[in-house]
Amino acid sequence: MQNRNVLISGAGIAGTALAYWLRHHGFRPTVVERASALREGGYKIDIRGAALDVVSRAGVLEAVRAQRTDVQGGSIVSAAGKRVATLDGDTFGGRAGHDAEILRGDLNRILYDLTVDGADGVEYLFGDSIASATETAAGIEVTFDSGERRVFDLVVGADGLHSNTRALVFGPEERFIRDLGYYVSIYSVPNHLDLDRWELTYLSPLRTALTYSTAKDSGAKAMFLFASEPLEYDRHDVSQQKKLLAEAYAGEAWEVPRLLAALDEAPDFYFDSLSQAHLDHWSKGRTALVGDSA
Ligand SMILES: Cc1cc2nc3c(=O)[nH]c(=O)nc-3n(C[C@H](O)[C@H](O)[C@H](O)COP(=O)(O)OP(=O)(O)OC[C@H]3O[C@@H](n4cnc5c(N)ncnc54)[C@H](O)[C@@H]3O)c2cc1C
Repeated sequence: MQNRNVLISGAGIAGTALAYWLRHHGFRPTVVERASALREGGYKIDIRGAALDVVSRAGVLEAVRAQRTDVQGGSIVSAAGKRVATLDGDTFGGRAGHDAEILRGDLNRILYDLTVDGADGVEYLFGDSIASATETAAGIEVTFDSGERRVFDLVVGADGLHSNTRALVFGPEERFIRDLGYYVSIYSVPNHLDLDRWELTYLSPLRTALTYSTAKDSGAKAMFLFASEPLEYDRHDVSQQKKLLAEAYAGEAWEVPRLLAALDEAPDFYFDSLSQAHLDHWSKGRTALVGDSA
């Protein structure tokens, strides 16, 4: 078979899922992930429609169902914490029929476990990143930040919205990313409200804050969604992003100050703009993009 050796950049949902299917079809994928370990965290997501078929064919539908959030419902709260509207879990989460709701991090873990299973498991290079990728007659020569050099047949960028692969092969991010005018942040917090598979949402003009607990989480999560002009910040500077979030919610009521107080200890802090990539082509030579990078 041609083009067997495939380098995937990024071990998120797109990267691990692709690694599974490539191995399944006889390819030999290697995954390079910048973080030192699989990135935990993220909001709950619904596996529905075509995605149910995909997880089913990958043989992990039962594993996904076993990790379901089992969220029973959600309430909109006032500034004083009074529950002003309550919906059942399916309505609140937009779940229907056989949809399976699972935390992003749990789905990522299931897909990862699937790819490292067995003697011919997928090779993962954690704590590294592609520094350069040059096409030659023999393939695509990749240099990693660690200094290591290797030749692959194909490279796939599954490294998210701010894709390193896209920047290296297709051009600078500004050419492709459209900002939708919002920022999202999510991280683990202590379950100080004793929520049992329940979500509380506080709405203030242009700012939403919510907290919820799931069946698979002994703590809780805090999530923030706010409208903003583009913010200038260093994407690798987590403390700067925590500060931006705290500033955006300064003076907000409800439990917001308590949720923000947990920022310092948050092990799985995530912060990003809501944006979309727009490209005319998702491949160029021996390189292709999947997931948010595309
Ligand atoms: C920790 C986390 C939490 C998230 N939480 C939410 C959320 O609450 N709400 C929401 O709407 N979306 C969230 N997202 C985004 C969501 O996961 C994606 O929109 C969706 O799953 C598509 O994923 P993807 O695999 O294309 O990209 P991503 O999920 O962004 O995964 C990209 C992966 O590539 C890795 N990576 C980045 N740069 C490099 C590099 N230079 N070299 C190698 N690897 C690299 C990242 O560490 C990450 O593991 C989150 C993403 C992450 C990583």
